[in-house]
Amino acid sequence: MSKRDYYEILGVSKSSTPDEIKKAYRQMALKYHPDKNPGNKEAEEKFKEAAEAYDVLSNSEKKARYDKFGHNAPGGFGRSSEYNVEDIFSQFGDIFGGFGFGGFGGFGGGGGGRRSEPMRRGSDVRIRVKVDLKDIAAGVEKKLKIPVLGRCEACSGTGAKSPSSISVCPTCKGSGHITKMANTIFGAMQSTTVCPQCHGDGKKITELCTACHGEGTMKKEENITFRIPPGVREGMQLNISGKGNAARRGGINGDLLVLINEEQNDELVRDENDLIYSLYISIPQAVLGASVEVPTVSGKAKISIDPGTQSGKVLRLRGKGLPDINGYGTGDLLVYINLWTPQKLSREEESMMETFADSENFKPNPSKQDKNFFERLKSMFQ
Ligand SMILES: [Zn+2]
Ligand SMILES: [Zn+2]
Repeated sequence: MSKRDYYEILGVSKSSTPDEIKKAYRQMALKYHPDKNPGNKEAEEKFKEAAEAYDVLSNSEKKARYDKFGHNAPGGFGRSSEYNVEDIFSQFGDIFGGFGFGGFGGFGGGGGGRRSEPMRRGSDVRIRVKVDLKDIAAGVEKKLKIPVLGRCEACSGTGAKSPSSISVCPTCKGSGHITKMANTIFGAMQSTTVCPQCHGDGKKITELCTACHGEGTMKKEENITFRIPPGVREGMQLNISGKGNAARRGGINGDLLVLINEEQNDELVRDENDLIYSLYISIPQAVLGASVEVPTVSGKAKISIDPGTQSGKVLRLRGKGLPDINGYGTGDLLVYINLWTPQKLSREEESMMETFADSENFKPNPSKQDKNFFERLKSMFQ
């Protein structure tokens, strides 16, 4: 059968505006709507034909292609036989606005869900996973045993004792929905609802699986391996698709939701992607200089303390912090230097300290240091 011209189908011309095309389609759709013409095959064909024509003519790219090449345009436009009435509804739902079609809530359960029945989905499973700084720095693979509802192996998730105990639902004849007549402003119309007998399955199970009592699911311990990316922080949630509970009698699994629990480190404090370490040095180390070790996420690092280092100095070890979760570089390790003041001295030590008391070199001269102090304070409160 040769295809009719799209403009002819809608009764519009090449120069018609998008609004005129929309209006023409709305009229056709209302006239040939299957709800108004129950069981009328010809009307249904016309309805689909109009939908196909509108699909092309309402899309500027497709329309340009059609204007240039007609039905033989490269790539084609799809055929009206590929359109089903329910798709047309979801695709062109907006077109019926203001025409009373909004009241057709019964059609397939209303609210956009015009497909036979949304896919059944198992529930999500939530777990908490502890990570330490090392895990956060490098990312980590976790292998866990997680209690979930899995598919019943005895019945392969069908809930039936054997394949022969599954038959077609007599109420809906296997379609999963039932059609009712209803009175509307257009007169008697059909409306479709989910079958109350099989809840959309379209199946009747005469003998239930004894292992799962017809649920199709079983409590299981699943070994699940997943990777926690570098840079995660407390309270973040990872979504591992399809690793949650199985759905009743088939369908798709829920997700595994992994909540990140960040373990506090004894030595390193986290500040976003930076790490902070509070280092104490002795008076001789501050005076004479020294090489000391500081902890990092990847073991110890050696840093050198310059002779004459003041208490409160901050050393920045670039790139020794944590990686950014979105890949924006790596933070730093900030080493705050504190001077350890001895709190207990021997007699000799005490007399040695007294010899320093009058030394000019030991008198504070903070003029230079104070400037740094304020700069440091400012950077801390940024
Ligand atoms: Zn079973
Ligand atoms: Zn049924």
